[in-house]
Amino acid sequence: MQPNTRLRMTTQRQVIMDELKSLKTHPTAGELCQIVRRRLPRISLGTVYRNLEILSRQGMIQKLDVGGTEMRFDGTTENHYHLRCIACGRVADVDMEILQDIENQVGDAAGFQVLGHRLEFLGYCPQCRQNGATH
Ligand SMILES: [Zn+2]
Ligand SMILES: [Zn+2]
Repeated sequence: MQPNTRLRMTTQRQVIMDELKSLKTHPTAGELCQIVRRRLPRISLGTVYRNLEILSRQGMIQKLDVGGTEMRFDGTTENHYHLRCIACGRVADVDMEILQDIENQVGDAAGFQVLGHRLEFLGYCPQCRQNGATH
């Protein structure tokens, strides 16, 4: 093992996190890899993926379990809602306040101590609607 391996890993991880946090597009590991390669031309998809896993375990980024599609990543860790296009798979942020009351209502009804919630809206994005996608 080379003596500077650890340092290099840390630098790569920093670049991956910086790039992800500068995006609003919730990229897949592959999409993010293409972007990171502008700064680190030799980085592999496996390395990007591994670092994304570590960052999400550390709570620095969010891994989005969006149903039935490739894993996507989000640089924003505060709770916010998502819109997912069922035609092209892209994920957008919803610009609205988090519904706090809903946690109390659900918690009271179910006898749970509710710690948080996730909300995802499904539909067709503006581009796909323009291209004629309808239900
Ligand atoms: Zn779409
Ligand atoms: Zn988001």
